[in-house]
Amino acid sequence: MKCAMCENEKSLKRERITVKYKDCGLDNVTLIGVTYYKCHECGEEYFSYGNIEHLHKIIAQVLLKKSGFLSGKEVRFLRKQLGYSGQMFSKLIGYENETLSRLENGKQPITPAFDRVIRFSVAERIHDRNYDLHDAILKGGEKFKRIELTSTPQGEWKLKLAA
Ligand SMILES: [Zn+2]
Repeated sequence: MKCAMCENEKSLKRERITVKYKDCGLDNVTLIGVTYYKCHECGEEYFSYGNIEHLHKIIAQVLLKKSGFLSGKEVRFLRKQLGYSGQMFSKLIGYENETLSRLENGKQPITPAFDRVIRFSVAERIHDRNYDLHDAILKGGEKFKRIELTSTPQGEWKLKLAA
Protein backbone atom coordinates (compact mmCIF):
# COMPACT_ATOMS: atom_id res chain seq x y z
CA MET A 1 0.00 0.00 0.00
CA LYS A 2 1.00 3.63 -0.54
CA CYS A 3 0.82 6.60 1.82
CA ALA A 4 -2.44 8.53 1.45
CA MET A 5 -1.11 11.56 3.34
CA CYS A 6 1.94 12.62 1.34
CA GLU A 7 3.71 12.40 -2.00
CA ASN A 8 5.73 9.33 -1.02
CA GLU A 9 5.43 7.03 -4.03
CA LYS A 10 7.15 4.03 -2.51
CA SER A 11 5.12 1.15 -1.16
CA LEU A 12 5.04 1.16 2.62
CA LYS A 13 6.66 -1.71 4.44
CA ARG A 14 4.25 -4.02 6.17
CA GLU A 15 4.91 -5.20 9.71
CA ARG A 16 3.08 -7.37 12.19
CA ILE A 17 2.94 -5.82 15.62
CA THR A 18 1.39 -6.36 19.05
CA VAL A 19 -0.88 -3.63 20.37
CA LYS A 20 -3.09 -2.87 23.34
CA TYR A 21 -6.49 -2.62 21.72
CA LYS A 22 -7.73 0.45 23.62
CA ASP A 23 -9.80 1.59 20.64
CA CYS A 24 -12.42 -0.97 21.62
CA GLY A 25 -12.94 0.79 24.97
CA LEU A 26 -11.39 -1.98 27.08
CA ASP A 27 -7.98 -1.68 28.77
CA ASN A 28 -7.05 -5.34 28.92
CA VAL A 29 -7.21 -6.58 25.33
CA THR A 30 -3.95 -7.31 23.48
CA LEU A 31 -3.84 -8.04 19.77
CA ILE A 32 -0.90 -9.98 18.41
CA GLY A 33 -0.26 -9.68 14.69
CA VAL A 34 -1.93 -6.40 13.80
CA THR A 35 -0.88 -5.28 10.32
CA TYR A 36 1.00 -2.01 10.59
CA TYR A 37 2.45 0.39 8.04
CA LYS A 38 4.46 3.52 8.69
CA CYS A 39 5.36 6.11 6.10
CA HIS A 40 9.04 7.00 6.39
CA GLU A 41 8.48 10.31 4.63
CA CYS A 42 5.71 11.89 6.72
CA GLY A 43 5.47 9.52 9.68
CA GLU A 44 1.81 8.64 9.10
CA GLU A 45 0.86 5.31 10.67
CA TYR A 46 -1.72 2.85 9.39
CA PHE A 47 -3.19 -0.01 11.41
CA SER A 48 -5.26 -2.77 9.96
CA TYR A 49 -7.24 -4.91 12.37
CA GLY A 50 -8.57 -7.33 9.78
CA ASN A 51 -12.07 -8.62 10.42
CA ILE A 52 -13.16 -6.34 13.29
CA GLU A 53 -16.66 -7.76 13.46
CA HIS A 54 -15.23 -11.21 14.05
CA LEU A 55 -12.71 -9.84 16.55
CA HIS A 56 -15.38 -8.07 18.61
CA LYS A 57 -17.61 -11.11 18.56
CA ILE A 58 -14.87 -13.24 20.11
CA ILE A 59 -14.22 -10.62 22.80
CA ALA A 60 -17.96 -10.45 23.54
CA GLN A 61 -18.18 -14.23 23.93
CA VAL A 62 -15.29 -14.15 26.41
CA LEU A 63 -16.91 -11.32 28.41
CA LEU A 64 -20.28 -13.05 28.63
CA LYS A 65 -18.83 -15.96 30.61
CA LYS A 66 -16.56 -13.93 32.85
CA SER A 67 -16.80 -14.65 36.59
CA GLY A 68 -17.99 -11.90 38.92
CA PHE A 69 -19.68 -8.84 37.50
CA LEU A 70 -19.06 -7.07 34.24
CA SER A 71 -17.33 -3.71 34.52
CA GLY A 72 -18.93 -0.55 33.20
CA LYS A 73 -16.53 -0.55 30.25
CA GLU A 74 -17.45 -4.12 29.43
CA VAL A 75 -21.14 -3.24 29.55
CA ARG A 76 -20.50 -0.40 27.11
CA PHE A 77 -18.50 -2.67 24.81
CA LEU A 78 -21.30 -5.25 24.78
CA ARG A 79 -23.98 -2.63 24.16
CA LYS A 80 -22.03 -1.26 21.20
CA GLN A 81 -21.63 -4.78 19.94
CA LEU A 82 -25.41 -4.87 19.57
CA GLY A 83 -25.31 -1.58 17.69
CA TYR A 84 -27.47 0.20 20.29
CA SER A 85 -27.21 3.76 21.52
CA GLY A 86 -27.37 4.23 25.28
CA GLN A 87 -30.92 5.47 24.89
CA MET A 88 -32.12 2.45 22.92
CA PHE A 89 -30.40 0.00 25.19
CA SER A 90 -31.70 1.51 28.40
CA LYS A 91 -35.20 1.35 26.95
CA LEU A 92 -34.68 -2.30 26.04
CA ILE A 93 -33.50 -3.36 29.47
CA GLY A 94 -35.89 -1.14 31.41
CA TYR A 95 -33.38 1.24 32.97
CA GLU A 96 -33.26 5.02 32.94
CA ASN A 97 -30.80 6.32 30.35
CA GLU A 98 -28.91 8.22 33.06
CA THR A 99 -28.64 5.13 35.22
CA LEU A 100 -27.16 3.15 32.33
CA SER A 101 -24.73 5.97 31.70
CA ARG A 102 -23.60 6.01 35.35
CA LEU A 103 -23.19 2.24 35.34
CA GLU A 104 -21.14 2.35 32.13
CA ASN A 105 -18.96 5.14 33.51
CA GLY A 106 -18.30 3.24 36.71
CA LYS A 107 -20.03 5.87 38.81
CA GLN A 108 -22.59 3.40 40.08
CA PRO A 109 -21.79 -0.19 41.06
CA ILE A 110 -23.08 -3.00 38.85
CA THR A 111 -25.70 -5.10 40.60
CA PRO A 112 -26.25 -8.84 40.05
CA ALA A 113 -29.60 -8.24 38.35
CA PHE A 114 -28.16 -5.62 36.00
CA ASP A 115 -25.20 -7.84 35.17
CA ARG A 116 -27.51 -10.70 34.18
CA VAL A 117 -29.91 -8.60 32.16
CA ILE A 118 -26.94 -7.34 30.16
CA ARG A 119 -25.51 -10.80 29.56
CA PHE A 120 -28.80 -12.32 28.51
CA SER A 121 -29.90 -9.47 26.28
CA VAL A 122 -26.52 -9.56 24.53
CA ALA A 123 -26.44 -13.36 24.31
CA GLU A 124 -29.87 -13.36 22.75
CA ARG A 125 -28.44 -11.43 19.78
CA ILE A 126 -24.90 -12.74 19.54
CA HIS A 127 -24.82 -16.43 18.81
CA ASP A 128 -22.15 -18.96 17.78
CA ARG A 129 -20.91 -19.69 21.26
CA ASN A 130 -18.87 -22.81 21.81
CA TYR A 131 -20.23 -22.99 25.36
CA ASP A 132 -23.57 -22.84 27.12
CA LEU A 133 -24.04 -19.49 28.84
CA HIS A 134 -26.35 -20.81 31.56
CA ASP A 135 -23.87 -23.56 32.43
CA ALA A 136 -20.99 -21.09 32.43
CA ILE A 137 -22.77 -18.74 34.84
CA LEU A 138 -24.03 -21.52 37.08
CA LYS A 139 -20.48 -22.85 37.37
CA GLY A 140 -19.27 -19.41 38.45
CA GLY A 141 -17.86 -18.23 35.13
CA GLU A 142 -14.23 -17.91 34.12
CA LYS A 143 -11.73 -15.72 35.89
CA PHE A 144 -9.45 -13.60 33.77
CA LYS A 145 -7.71 -10.26 33.91
CA ARG A 146 -6.55 -9.95 30.33
CA ILE A 147 -7.54 -11.16 26.90
CA GLU A 148 -5.07 -11.89 24.11
CA LEU A 149 -5.93 -12.63 20.51
CA THR A 150 -3.75 -13.57 17.56
CA SER A 151 -4.47 -12.85 13.94
CA THR A 152 -4.62 -15.60 11.37
CA PRO A 153 -3.13 -15.27 7.87
CA GLN A 154 -6.72 -14.89 6.57
CA GLY A 155 -7.25 -11.72 8.62
CA GLU A 156 -9.46 -13.46 11.16
CA TRP A 157 -8.85 -13.56 14.91
CA LYS A 158 -8.30 -16.38 17.33
CA LEU A 159 -8.49 -16.25 21.11
CA LYS A 160 -5.05 -17.00 22.52
CA LEU A 161 -5.81 -16.62 26.19
CA ALA A 162 -8.11 -15.14 28.75
CA ALA A 163 -6.14 -15.35 31.98
ZN1 LIG B 1 3.46 9.71 3.99
